[in-house]
Amino acid sequence: MARYKDAVCRLCRREGMKLFLKGGKCFTDKCPIEKRNFAPGQHGKDRKAKIVGYGLQLREKQKAKRIYFTQEGQFRNYFERAVRTKGVTGEVLLQQLERRLDNVVYRLGFAVARRQARQLVRHGHVVVNGRKVDIPSYQVKAGDEIGVREASKKLVMLETAKEFASHQAPPAWLEVDRDAYKGRVMALPKREDINQPLNEQLIVELYSK
Ligand code: SF4
Repeated sequence: MARYKDAVCRLCRREGMKLFLKGGKCFTDKCPIEKRNFAPGQHGKDRKAKIVGYGLQLREKQKAKRIYFTQEGQFRNYFERAVRTKGVTGEVLLQQLERRLDNVVYRLGFAVARRQARQLVRHGHVVVNGRKVDIPSYQVKAGDEIGVREASKKLVMLETAKEFASHQAPPAWLEVDRDAYKGRVMALPKREDINQPLNEQLIVELYSK
């Protein structure tokens, strides 16, 4: 399936909540959720029915996919791997999403949004343990050192991201030196470290049918 290239704010409006896909704009009154919090499209305003059962499970899965910018096939692979892994399936699923390199770059504050982090990785600006890694879905491990290539440290987007992230601490499982654009994975994320508005149990129920 092709990657979604339309206006990302529509995705938030479809889910009826802020998914924080655009960085700075998400925190201003220009955010469309502040002004038009109804589904996009001609009949968006008319959709008032309460979503239950399958619809609720589907929306939860879509929300998770949208937050982490993954596609259906890849998302299902995460689920199937989670089923085969020891532990609570929903939590392992979220842990895999959180361990994606693009998410870690975002969490470290090197990008204002996951989409931008994905671009940084794809364009070869990010190194893991000193080696360039340009795969956004790369799964980081405890002890990995994530950084920005020396030649890329002058990028304006990095400076902007540093300023943007200066008021927020990184999650407990990551350590960061923002001036050096370097970070370390201290431990794998636990459920309480993943502060996304997601009910992973609904996703497990959806895929377990
Ligand atoms: Fe979502 Fe951010 Fe757009 Fe608001 S500005 S609708 S939070 S992506």
